[in-house]
Amino acid sequence: MFKKFYNKQCFALSVLLSACAVSITGCGSKASSTASTVETEVSYATEISDLSEASDPTETTDMTEASDPAETTDMTEASETVEDNNENSSEEITVNSSSDFYYSSIPDSVKSRMVGVSYPADPTNALISLDSLSYVHVLHVDFNGNTQTGELICNTAIAQDLVDIFKALYEAGYPIDKIRLIDEYGADDDTSMAANNTSCFNYRLVKGSNKLSNHGLGRAIDLNPLYNPCVYLKSGEIAPPAGAAYADRSADFPYKIDTNDLAYKLFTQHGFTWGGAWNSLKDYQHFEKK
Ligand SMILES: [Zn+2]
Repeated sequence: MFKKFYNKQCFALSVLLSACAVSITGCGSKASSTASTVETEVSYATEISDLSEASDPTETTDMTEASDPAETTDMTEASETVEDNNENSSEEITVNSSSDFYYSSIPDSVKSRMVGVSYPADPTNALISLDSLSYVHVLHVDFNGNTQTGELICNTAIAQDLVDIFKALYEAGYPIDKIRLIDEYGADDDTSMAANNTSCFNYRLVKGSNKLSNHGLGRAIDLNPLYNPCVYLKSGEIAPPAGAAYADRSADFPYKIDTNDLAYKLFTQHGFTWGGAWNSLKDYQHFEKK
């Protein structure tokens, strides 16, 4: 229901303002602002109604056409076309209406899984608030070709990026072993990586500092980490250790992230940098957006 209402209002507004792109952008706001979007649309509808009473001949003609039942049908179809075209350039609108791919504030049930595990038990002096983080729900294709549910915690600043990227990966059938909260591995990064788990937020500091790492900020994600290990060039250390089998990136093996990989392309298109392009270490599993 909301979708249809929203389409009509968007299109009607675009007819009046001859600014379709602007109206769609305005309507395609993030999930967290849905309520305010509805309010905005209602006020637009009022403005449209007011305009129908305007004495300007051009406006009157436009509104007469808009009120014709046949034209209204056409407008609905036209607005769907606009939406379809928009999907090609941005999936934001569709993604927000999906019950499979979405983000939200962290549900209390999830907070209780995190506090004392991936998030400090005493939040008093925590360097990031749970209110700055989001819960991301996605589907993914596992290594057996089956659809699975995935859960991530990330900084709200990248939540829409992750929804869009994981939706595109799913639709392409891109295999991801598992996407579980790191709390299921006791917030132990080594254990999570060894289990080839894809994860994002984990409250931890940069070594030897009081600053949160990019994972601690919820702005970094590790994808299929066993097959895409982190290789420290100086020490030769490899994390996870079992990923040593996949440290030689000239070798041919599945689930390898390189610059031809779809995940690489999607993350970089969304403004993420790839750890595999770093010099001092090669973190092939890692994408981050500051
Ligand atoms: Zn990482």
